Amino acid sequence: MPHILIVEDEATIADTLVFALNADGHTTHWTLLGRDALDYVSKNTVDLIVLDVGLPDQNGFEVCKTLRRTSEIPVLFLTARAAEIDRIVGLEIGADDYVVKPFSPREVAARVRNILKRSGSLRPQIPPAESEFVIDADRALIQYQGTPLNLTPHEYHILACLVRRPSQVFSRDQLLDAAGISTGAGYARNIDTHVKDLRAKLGTTHAEADPIRTHRGFGYSYQPGA
Ligand code: CA
Repeated sequence: MPHILIVEDEATIADTLVFALNADGHTTHWTLLGRDALDYVSKNTVDLIVLDVGLPDQNGFEVCKTLRRTSEIPVLFLTARAAEIDRIVGLEIGADDYVVKPFSPREVAARVRNILKRSGSLRPQIPPAESEFVIDADRALIQYQGTPLNLTPHEYHILACLVRRPSQVFSRDQLLDAAGISTGAGYARNIDTHVKDLRAKLGTTHAEADPIRTHRGFGYSYQPGA
């Protein structure tokens, strides 16, 4: 569940934001001051900050600048004035987006969702019922479209590694590591052989399918439904 820090000195605005973001499935924490926000970020895991520009102790730009020295947490600015928008749009302070007051809490929630999607905090999850692969880790078995695959232990570990993170590209070294094979020089090409064998086995189960993608110079990924 993404955790959102709201930095806003007007309680009524903060209240509507807390409500809208909680309703959208996020947990929230609210601070009034910039320094409290920076203190909170240094001690807690925060996925996104909704940051008012006009704060009582320091302005939101200063808070963002200080934050950016140590952190890449996405920042959504709340602003009331056109002059502030120019600065945000200039992006010199490293903002991810902004909304202008007065705003609808729903609009803020939608922006938050978009930024989280971009930053990867809201990875699309494939419901197990729709997944073409079913991994039975206890028995080291993988089913592909309902058919159990006859895999060697190395093939099992490589395929399980790929399937657990759809679309993520794994280097040969990472896959060797997942398979428990030494990552020393000369072993990387072993992965190519294992992947070739895996593709052949998947092809036997389902002739049209080719869910393992080669990324030249990088490695391999699993593409669901390919
Ligand atoms: Ca304010």
